[in-house]
Amino acid sequence: MEKKPILFLENIDKAFKTSDGDFYALKNINLSFPNKGLHCLVGKSGSGKSTLLNLLLQIEKPTKGEIFYKNKKISKFKKKDLNNYRNCVIGTIFQHYNLFEDLSVIDNIILPSLILGENRKDCIKRANDYIKQFNLEYLSKRIVKNLSGGEKQRVAIIRSIMNNPDILLCDEPTGALDDTNSVLIMKILKELSNDRLVIVVSHNLDLVEQFSDRIITLHDGKTILDQYRNEIKESNFKKQKINKRKFNWTKIFIRKHLKQNFVKNFLTYFSTLFGLLAIMCSIGFNNGIEETSRNAIQNNLAISTATVSKKQYIDIPNSPLQYEKSTRPHNDELQFLYNIIPSLVIEPNLSYFVPTNPTFSYRDEILNTISFIPIYNHHLINSYNEIVVNNKFLELLNLDKEEIIDDYLYLIHKVSPTIKTDDIVNPFIKDNIEIKEQLIIKEVVDEFSFLNNPKIYYSYPLFLEFVSNIKLENISNYLGYEMDGLSYVISSNDDSMMSSYSSLLFVKDKQDINRLFSLKDELDNEKADIRIESDPYLIQKTYVNFMTSFASSLQIFIIISFVGVCFIIGITSLSSFILYKKESAILTILGSSNSKILSIFLDESLFVILMSICSSLVLSFFVEKLINNIVYKYAQIENLISIPIYSYLGYPYLLPIALTIIIISISIIFIIVPLLIYKNISLSSELKDE
Ligand code: ADP
Ligand code: MG
Repeated sequence: MEKKPILFLENIDKAFKTSDGDFYALKNINLSFPNKGLHCLVGKSGSGKSTLLNLLLQIEKPTKGEIFYKNKKISKFKKKDLNNYRNCVIGTIFQHYNLFEDLSVIDNIILPSLILGENRKDCIKRANDYIKQFNLEYLSKRIVKNLSGGEKQRVAIIRSIMNNPDILLCDEPTGALDDTNSVLIMKILKELSNDRLVIVVSHNLDLVEQFSDRIITLHDGKTILDQYRNEIKESNFKKQKINKRKFNWTKIFIRKHLKQNFVKNFLTYFSTLFGLLAIMCSIGFNNGIEETSRNAIQNNLAISTATVSKKQYIDIPNSPLQYEKSTRPHNDELQFLYNIIPSLVIEPNLSYFVPTNPTFSYRDEILNTISFIPIYNHHLINSYNEIVVNNKFLELLNLDKEEIIDDYLYLIHKVSPTIKTDDIVNPFIKDNIEIKEQLIIKEVVDEFSFLNNPKIYYSYPLFLEFVSNIKLENISNYLGYEMDGLSYVISSNDDSMMSSYSSLLFVKDKQDINRLFSLKDELDNEKADIRIESDPYLIQKTYVNFMTSFASSLQIFIIISFVGVCFIIGITSLSSFILYKKESAILTILGSSNSKILSIFLDESLFVILMSICSSLVLSFFVEKLINNIVYKYAQIENLISIPIYSYLGYPYLLPIALTIIIISISIIFIIVPLLIYKNISLSSELKDE
């Protein structure tokens, strides 16, 4: 009867490493199997039957000896050949079925054919033919976990024959079934054995007696008996033809995992989402600082006012030291400024009569800490005694905007303009001027709060008129002609006792402000005689430096977020893999390649990542707005965060694209490395029937 053996085991030993040294589960096994018949392996528990089947499946490797399939050594199979061998040559049936409990009957059955590469429609058609032959039509759509043991085993048998294998390996297929079902299953296997080799491990000696063509008895890893019993008949079973085509079966599992791991994936999704939002906001912050601070400072009304003075270095007599002295430059020395800044106005500094930090009284309270700043024009100021205050002023008084508009306060200032005379008896002529002017608050302006102080803005041109109306009577009498406040300021030189040794610069056009500041930087760098001073610009520079160093420290947080996000993704996919170890083992037995199995976990994670990336891009708009609104409310900084979605570093859509690519590639590394480390799961222990 036996021509060429389809399977041949030659001098097989299988030893397991244990704490007491090597334990031989199989010793010197020599067996050959023809391509048909029901061959039963019997023997006590622990005699090595399952180990033998595992060797045939190549999920364990023999310590010694060779197994031949159609005269080819299966130990020499390449990866692809091995997958094909498990997928199409061998069908396996286990005591506890090893079906995918959460998939439907039909999905379980067609899986080996999908792995083979068959078109889904064709698989289903073929599967339905088998289902009909097994009288299981009523089960086809059901989820496996709701089936009875006998039904599950019949489903497992159909799955095992879907790809027309030459060999069926059955490890105690009736072990979990009652007598009726056991007989039914054995009948089916018997029928199947008419045109393929069926190797059945069984405890049930009655069934073995009744159905087997050959009984091989193992004892302590050795064959002690090998008897042939029956002739082998032809089969009634119709083998089906298989057309190979592509179908990505992994999506069945990806969908299943996404559903089963919903909570975990949801948490991963959120952690990734928040991580990405943090990254984008940090980048948006980095991106926004320069412009934001410039805009924020330019909101400051004082920005368009600067002072210009001439620095002189005077030798101190009999000393190597010099002192720096500021004087008011001549108009012709400032001519070059007009050429650079078209909208510039240069005026005398009136701070002798209108100081930058005068005393104010508001509702009988004396206020000393307020800056009094000239501006060139403001649409709400029509008279010299109309003023605009900033929000810091409001905070100082602890009042609401509504309360203070149209309210008034007093400017209080005393000066004694003096001139030198040639008279030795009266060397000085002096006027005593007392200024007490009622000022009306017309508006409160919101200003960038960084290093800002309470400020009152007045109109310079209107105050110029006020100062020129100040009469210096004693001085006029002495001089013999009218001397008013303005002519006193203009005529005074550095020898006089005045404090206003500079000129004021007003930039009428806001767009010229940056020119003024670059000019200031240039003059500072050149250490020129003429120097421009601007407090708001100084503050802006301080702010930018401060924020830039803050932003650079944020980059560390960006990296931490990145790594955190990637770790979360990696750990989730690893935990998913650990959770589905058995599933992976079954897929391996059905002939799936490792890369396909890895791709299930990878795709599951990538799906979650892509979802997070998309959501974070959408959400970033809202988060950006929200943060900016809050920051504006408390610090009057507009657009603190400006996430450069559309264009970054000059490239369109660089940020979303780069973020996606980087996150995905790092995640892939974080997913694949642990999975590869973890890949060496023991298939035999995962598939063990216990
Ligand atoms: P059975 O005939 O009951 O199926 P097995 O083939 O499962 O027996 O086991 C044969 C012997 O090998 C048993 O004594 C078992 O304990 C031992 N064995 C099986 N797998 C391993 C393993 N991975 N490590 C150590 N010993 C093992
Ligand atoms: Mg066993």
